[in-house]
Amino acid sequence: MRQPYILHIDMDCFYAAVEMRDNPEIRDKPVIIGALPGSRGVISACNYEARKFGLHSAMPISRAVKLCPKGIYLRGDMDKYSEESDKIMAILHTFTDTIEQISVDEAYMEVSDLGKLFGTPEQIAVSIKKKIKEELGLTASVGGAPVRFVSKIASDLKKPDGLLIVKAEEVKDLLAPLQISRLPGLGSKGCERLHRLGIRTIGSLRKYPASGLRAAVGDGMAEELFDLANGVGYTEICTEREAKSVSREYTYQRDTNDREKLRKSLLYLTDDVARRLRASDLKARTVQLTWRTIDFNRHSRQKTMDFETNSSDILFQEVEKLFLEHLSPETYVRLIGMGTSNFNGEIESDQLSLFECKSKPDERLSRIDTAKDKIALKHGEDMLKRASFVEKNND
Ligand SMILES: [Mg+2]
Repeated sequence: MRQPYILHIDMDCFYAAVEMRDNPEIRDKPVIIGALPGSRGVISACNYEARKFGLHSAMPISRAVKLCPKGIYLRGDMDKYSEESDKIMAILHTFTDTIEQISVDEAYMEVSDLGKLFGTPEQIAVSIKKKIKEELGLTASVGGAPVRFVSKIASDLKKPDGLLIVKAEEVKDLLAPLQISRLPGLGSKGCERLHRLGIRTIGSLRKYPASGLRAAVGDGMAEELFDLANGVGYTEICTEREAKSVSREYTYQRDTNDREKLRKSLLYLTDDVARRLRASDLKARTVQLTWRTIDFNRHSRQKTMDFETNSSDILFQEVEKLFLEHLSPETYVRLIGMGTSNFNGEIESDQLSLFECKSKPDERLSRIDTAKDKIALKHGEDMLKRASFVEKNND
C-alpha cells in the first residue's frame, strides 16, 4: 500500500505580507493589520518587524501602540486577501487536486503519488514556493511529513520562507525535543495537566509510563497522546470542503408559542447538528436560529462567536441566547431550526484572524460529546435523544 505523504503550505504573515508587497515604503517597518489605534480591537496579523517589539496576533491594539508607537497600523482588506488566497490555491491545484484548504492561507496536500509528474515531495515543495514567490511576490513556508500534524509542525518550525521535509524515520526525533503544546488538540488545560506530571516535551510524553498516564488522563486520552507522541495521526486529505453550513429544522403539526416546547426542540436539533459537525471534524463559529411564522415568512438571526466549537452544550447556549433575544413569547411559529457555518477557520486562520479565532478549549465538554458520539454509533442516535425532547411527534 502506498504510504501517504503530506505537505502543509502556510503563507508567512499573510495579510501583512500582501500589504508590504503592494506598498514598498512600509516594507521595512512594523506593519500591523487589525483594529486601528484608538479603538478597542486586537491585532489580527503583524509582520516580523512588528514581532520584534513583542507584538503578536490577538494583542489589544491599545497595548500594541504602547509597545510600538511608530508601527504602520492598517485595517486590512479581506477582499484583497481572499483574492490572493484564490491565486495561491490555484497554484497548488496545478500540482494536484488532493488539497484541503484549511484557512485563507493554509492548505494540506497529498503528494505521495506525484513522483512521476513533479518529483519528490521536496522537489514539489521547492516548486510550490518558487511559483508563489514568482507569481505573487509572497513567501510560503512548507512542511512535509507522513502525517498531517507533523507536516504542520514542520512548516511552522522553519518560518518564514521555510522548508522542512521530514521522512517517516525522522518523525520521532523531530518531535522529541518539542514542547507538548505543539501537539494538536491539547489546549492549554491539557498542557497544564501534563506539566503537572512533569511532562514538558513530546519525547518525555512518549517515555512516560503508560499506566501512570492512563491513571492521570483516562485510557482514551492516554492512547491518543501516545499515538501523537509517536508521530501517529491523521493522514487523510478531505478535498470536499463544500459543506458551507450544517443545519436542521423541525416543522410542527400546529403553530406553537409554547416556549418550553420550542426550547426542547432546539436542544434536540442542536444535539443533532453538533454530532454531525464532530463526525465531519468541523467546528463552527457562526450559529443561526431560524423560524417560520404563521404567515410563512422565514426569519433568522445569527451570531458569530469569537471562537469555534462543535460542543453540543456551547452551541446550544448560543442558539438559546438568540432564541431568548429575538423570538418573542407572543410569536407563534410553525418551524424552528438551528444551523452552523464558518467552519474551521474558514474566515481566517488563528494566526491571521481579523477577529481572533480559537477553538474554545473545554476538555470536559468535548469528552462528554465524544462519549455520546460513540454510544450513538453503537446504538443508533435514538438512544441519545435528549430526555427533554419527548414531545417530538405529539405536538
Ligand atoms: Mg500563515
